[in-house]
Amino acid sequence: MIIVLRQGTQQQDIDKLTSILVTKGISVNPMFGSDLTILGLIGDTSQVDPAQIESFRCVERIMKVAEPFKKANRMFHPGQSVIKVGNTEVGGRKLSVMAGPCSVESKEQITYVAQEVQKAGATVLRGGAFKPRTSPYAFQGLKYEGLRLLEEARAATGLPIVTEIMSPYDIEIFDEKVDCIQVGARNMQNFDLLRLLGQTLKPILLKRGLSSTIEEWLMSAEYIMSGGNPNVILCERGIRTYETYTRNTLDLSAILAVKKLSHLPVIVDPSHATGKFWMVEPLARAAIAVGADGVMIEVHNDPAHALCDGAQSIRPELFSEVMDDIRKIAAVVGREI
Ligand code: PEP
Ligand code: MN
Repeated sequence: MIIVLRQGTQQQDIDKLTSILVTKGISVNPMFGSDLTILGLIGDTSQVDPAQIESFRCVERIMKVAEPFKKANRMFHPGQSVIKVGNTEVGGRKLSVMAGPCSVESKEQITYVAQEVQKAGATVLRGGAFKPRTSPYAFQGLKYEGLRLLEEARAATGLPIVTEIMSPYDIEIFDEKVDCIQVGARNMQNFDLLRLLGQTLKPILLKRGLSSTIEEWLMSAEYIMSGGNPNVILCERGIRTYETYTRNTLDLSAILAVKKLSHLPVIVDPSHATGKFWMVEPLARAAIAVGADGVMIEVHNDPAHALCDGAQSIRPELFSEVMDDIRKIAAVVGREI
């Protein structure tokens, strides 16, 4: 971090500012030019509140040199993180494909879809038990019964399970029952939830918030990691823009940005990104081509009667074609499945 001081700043003001920074463990290196004085700060500047520093009259401007996220930052962890989810890994050479219905609806439905996606080559079974719905009158998920049915589907197929958590009260039960805990877009900045998830070691699939910047998303990962849980997987699921044709706008450039900024694995969810089943296959191909570590895809046995997100859900037959495509693209980009 660099602090530019106003012209004519007195030494006593520099000393006052320096003494505050030193108490935060920062070393302060002044540089005196003919017009300007600047202070170069070295140390953990995450402890420095720019608003507090700006309140000093002698401060003209503050410039951040490093990003505010540390544990998620590639600069301090140049190797790629590989995260174990049940019997599979996310972030290594092998791609991850998390597939399954938006919501667990019945034992027959989740078991059938689990078997179909497993046959096609999925590596993780997804299925919502607690659903964050815009309307309180819409289907809210089977809740604890849904978790139980997911466990049964895991037992039937051997696929690890990922499902969304909504409340901090459920952390213990999720920690016990599921292989990966999903934090949905709507909870990406539920900081109490993130902090508490940082106290577990369970892999967390952190979806990008509805209108979040990449930095905000990585700062949310930082909340989990700073609590002691390094096992974070990011998921780009589209962001809100002025475009209304698609449910959201898929930001594929975010994959490149995240790969540059962070060592965490990142996957793409083309289902929620577009809201349209016929866009899922081409965008899954694009996601792998651009360097994502995998995809998350909604698959339903009968999309027309799905209790949630039918329009963006693909049938098992189409999912199988998507898997064939992913295999081909994987070979081109030096990955495998
Ligand atoms: C989901 O995965 O079913 C979901 C609700 O996703 P998002 O949080 O990305 O909207
Ligand atoms: Mn959904």
